[in-house]
Amino acid sequence: MDFESREFTIDPDGVNPKTYPYKTLYTGSRMPAVGMGTFGSDHVSYEDIAGAVFNAMELGYRHFDCASVYGNEEHIGRAFAKALASGKISREELFITSKVWNDRHAPAEVIASCEKSLKDLQLDYLDLYLVHWPFPNYHPPGCDVSSRSADARPYIHENYMKTWKAMEELVDRGLVRNIGVSNMTIPKMELVLRDCRIKPAVIEMELHPHFQQREFFDYVVSKGIQPVGYSPIGSPNRPERDRTAEDTVDMEDPVIKACADRLGIHPASVCLKWAFQRGQIPIPFSVKKRNYLSNLKCILDEPLSDKEMKAIAGIDRNCRLIKGDVFLWKEGQTWEALWDVDGVITPA
Ligand code: NDP
Repeated sequence: MDFESREFTIDPDGVNPKTYPYKTLYTGSRMPAVGMGTFGSDHVSYEDIAGAVFNAMELGYRHFDCASVYGNEEHIGRAFAKALASGKISREELFITSKVWNDRHAPAEVIASCEKSLKDLQLDYLDLYLVHWPFPNYHPPGCDVSSRSADARPYIHENYMKTWKAMEELVDRGLVRNIGVSNMTIPKMELVLRDCRIKPAVIEMELHPHFQQREFFDYVVSKGIQPVGYSPIGSPNRPERDRTAEDTVDMEDPVIKACADRLGIHPASVCLKWAFQRGQIPIPFSVKKRNYLSNLKCILDEPLSDKEMKAIAGIDRNCRLIKGDVFLWKEGQTWEALWDVDGVITPA
């Protein structure tokens, strides 16, 4: 039944959020150890995602990963408002993230974009606000990966810091409690950490068994920044345009399947247990109750053994799934240019 026509009820099949594991950020904020993604690509309706968010709160989810570019914040906002109005859940219990999109990097736009997300989500503050990508490059939603925007630019640190200053202002004004980055690289982070006034509390990055980003992961942890892992089970239903022939499938890996067989669980749960035990916060997406309930609960059951954790550490294939081709700024470039693969920021 549509969530708008029923009451918010705590679901006894769920978990008790008060006893659920948290990670404490350097700012002191506590972030639930698993969150729910809210990006449905083009194949899941905004209504279904908002319905899943409502239902997920009834099951004990308290952490949601939103973004203005997902197009569904107004819908999700109705789910938050209804849950909070029930009095059965408080705003302080929730951890809600949103992100500023690439075409709103100008400082005044960062503030306006955050205010719009707050209005749509029906909140008066966000727990975390991220710069979604380090490039100010707009592309129409759903466009082909080969499409290039005429005014696309490379990473320009001076400009990024203007955007970051506006992010810092959002903290000063009390509109957001934490700020962070996404889709970054070590050389870019070095510059941001050198020049920021408020250090990023979180980095959102692609992390799954076939794409472990070990050096980058260790780097951000050493700087006291919490990694949040997107596409944690390998984004199995991403649209065709985001796939290449070289992409591998985490859930079909024999090591993942062997762990799943031993524990009698789905391979998706193995990916999430691995993420949790390694120290990142996974944000899996699903609108199927059976799946999102299991994604929340799986980290509470029997853990992977040390031997299994070591075996999974050995199956990294350096297989980046979300390559970001549409953000390239020159004809003939390949997606590697976005990720500073030579250890230096790719020049203009
Ligand atoms: P995921 O790895 O979370 O994969 C999602 C897919 O896995 C869904 O289509 C879902 O299908 C399926 N699935 C989920 N749980 C299970 C389960 N227990 N068993 C079997 N299948 C399952 O990848 P996403 O790419 O969706 O990433 C997750 C979130 O990360 C996004 O929603 C978004 O919030 C964030 N993100 C952030 C990015 C950034 O740039 N910062 C980039 C990409 C994502 P079904 O509905 O059938 O369950």
